[in-house]
Amino acid sequence: MPTGSSTTAVTYCRICEPLCGLIATVDDGRLVSLRPDPEHPLSKGNACPKGIAFTEIQNDPERVLHPLRRTADGDFEQVSWDVALSDIAARLKKIWDEDGGAAVGHYLGNPSAFSYSAALWSGMFLKRLGSVHQYTTGSQDINSRFVASKLLYGAATQVPFPDLPRTDFLLMLGANPLVSHGSAVRAPRIKHELSAITARGGRVVVIDPRRTETARAHEHVRVRPDSDAWLLLSLLHVVFAEGLDDRAAIERQSTGVDLIRRAAAAYPPEETAARTGVDAEVVRQLARDFAAAPTATAYGRTGACLGRHGTLVSFLIDVFSLVTGNLDKPGGTVFSQAVIPLEDIGERSGAMTYGATRSRVGDFPDIMGIFPSGIMAEEITTPGAGRLRALIVTAGNPVLTVPDSDRLVAALQELDLLVSLDLYVNETNKHADYVLPAVTFLEREDFPFAFTAASPRPFFQATEAVLKPYGEARPEWEVFEELMHRMGMAMTSGGPLARLNRPLLALERRGLRLTPRRLMVTLLRAGPFGDRFGLRRGGLNGKTATKHPHGMVLAEHARTGILSDVVRLPDHKVRLDPDEIADELARLGDRHRADGGDGLDPAYPMLLIGLREIRSQNSWMHNSPTLMKGPRRQSARVHPDDAAEVGVADGGAVRIVSRHGAIEVAITITDEVGPGTVAVPHGWGHHGGWRLANASGGTNVNRLTSSDTADLEILAGMTLLNGVAVRLEACS
Ligand code: SF4
Repeated sequence: MPTGSSTTAVTYCRICEPLCGLIATVDDGRLVSLRPDPEHPLSKGNACPKGIAFTEIQNDPERVLHPLRRTADGDFEQVSWDVALSDIAARLKKIWDEDGGAAVGHYLGNPSAFSYSAALWSGMFLKRLGSVHQYTTGSQDINSRFVASKLLYGAATQVPFPDLPRTDFLLMLGANPLVSHGSAVRAPRIKHELSAITARGGRVVVIDPRRTETARAHEHVRVRPDSDAWLLLSLLHVVFAEGLDDRAAIERQSTGVDLIRRAAAAYPPEETAARTGVDAEVVRQLARDFAAAPTATAYGRTGACLGRHGTLVSFLIDVFSLVTGNLDKPGGTVFSQAVIPLEDIGERSGAMTYGATRSRVGDFPDIMGIFPSGIMAEEITTPGAGRLRALIVTAGNPVLTVPDSDRLVAALQELDLLVSLDLYVNETNKHADYVLPAVTFLEREDFPFAFTAASPRPFFQATEAVLKPYGEARPEWEVFEELMHRMGMAMTSGGPLARLNRPLLALERRGLRLTPRRLMVTLLRAGPFGDRFGLRRGGLNGKTATKHPHGMVLAEHARTGILSDVVRLPDHKVRLDPDEIADELARLGDRHRADGGDGLDPAYPMLLIGLREIRSQNSWMHNSPTLMKGPRRQSARVHPDDAAEVGVADGGAVRIVSRHGAIEVAITITDEVGPGTVAVPHGWGHHGGWRLANASGGTNVNRLTSSDTADLEILAGMTLLNGVAVRLEACS
């Protein structure tokens, strides 16, 4: 019961990328409610159902609030932090002493990416141990985009984004921002931003196999799953063939256009129509309109990243903007600029690598030290030097999110140590030796770290914690630091960070211990908008957050004309002909010739795609009564013709079969997908410590996907989640 002495606090949401402003009402240390912040300069009183419903996650009686240790009978028992940390540290140290960093790994889940302190300190911990097994959700999301940027710009973290407030033509591939609220572009009111484009006479064209919520609100071009690379090459074909390319921009900004010109020449729209399902004349007109628009920008997200040629698709999206003269100009595709230049420092220091090392299994190149999650199971089960023996999972549920879940579940049993830091007992950490209680985003302070650099209106907001941690929850960074201490080590006592050891010890003697917050404030002050430690009046510093709790707009528009500064290649020009892309174009051509032009497998003639839902956030918000109201059920979208073929009515169940597995799932019959396409929402099929989520049924779509190394995308190790060959059967 409220005590009548409730207070409010200004903060922001850290569930997804817009980081909408929120007002938290707190009573006697408990969260009473969350509501949108009307004074937030970007979100302006908007927040989605997930942000508001987070109150139920915060207060969920099924949250893990104390350290849990696995018992002999396979259950969990509560133990003290001291017992848990001592045992974990001792076991980790033993494994590390025996096999070094090659035996220790980490899986960083999506929510961790919103916590600068968890991401930084877990990264330092793994670096100190010399871990070569670092995995994230990136190979199910965005790693192909990072690789495309590395190849184009020499900077993996440089992800250009659409200048929404100024563009006349937005072409989107595989993105549904009316549901996702925008990814790799930060625009909290993105629905309004898109409407504003059309209101000022511009166009928003959505290329997607499904008539998504965004496609319904704008122009839709239906494309067959996993055919974006061919569609983009055909668009480029028209641009070059009809002389619509901006030769001056190409000359000024890039090198190597001949590779693209030659490749595109082989794919006139008539050649690719059978594969893409897009009429050749539609492609021609789209290319002409895009090239003729005063300003235009091409943008792709997960749908574009998760096919068999995801890196090539991300690469070609930027190429399309560039060759039509729309890169690095107002209203076009513009470059990101971080407020806290951590990634920039990483780029300058050479830490943002691609292919600096290769994985033991599958020989995949690292992407900033990260490897594909699809190989994690095989890294655990493959004997020999470098076998992954100890895995820490931070806010992740790879059993529901990486390919071939059953294989991963079996592999987890072979680990010597599995530790998880999380809010819940989920489908992954129910197999763990320890589950440690992590803080929620309301229980920690935060600085804008990832996600804010791609902002059409540069913006800064930081926040204090608005709640003390419930129960015994602890910030992840403190846990990593304490583990290191109990292992008899320090983050900088050896390994690649050793050169920092002396200065840090000197600072510590003066009472200035290195903490994530001290590091971020220092970088903020030194950054492009910082106060340069007093040298720049009005610049950002550690007190800015207090003075501007709702955040502050730093510039009306993103900077343009900065290409030569951001491109980190020797001549500071965009490279259009890297060997990796030349090889990938050759593979694309081989595939095109080999499979007869439509890409279909007669035994599995349908193509599976993913589907994001407004009241789901991947796999971790299905225990909120508000979000599950309805009751909500997982439902595959199937075209009426395909449903009729298997004789299943709306609401009935079908069996979806791939070469790698089979699932049974309820269907919604709808023409929002075309014939031959089935869309299945991900993140379902719960069997953890969350009763409402478990009771909501559904199934794990990743039982259909493959973790065979030959089935992962070759340049970034992306999981093939879009365009999985399947067939539908009636359930027996
Ligand atoms: S759109 Fe994302 S950031 Fe905004 S309230 Fe919803 S979940 Fe939070």
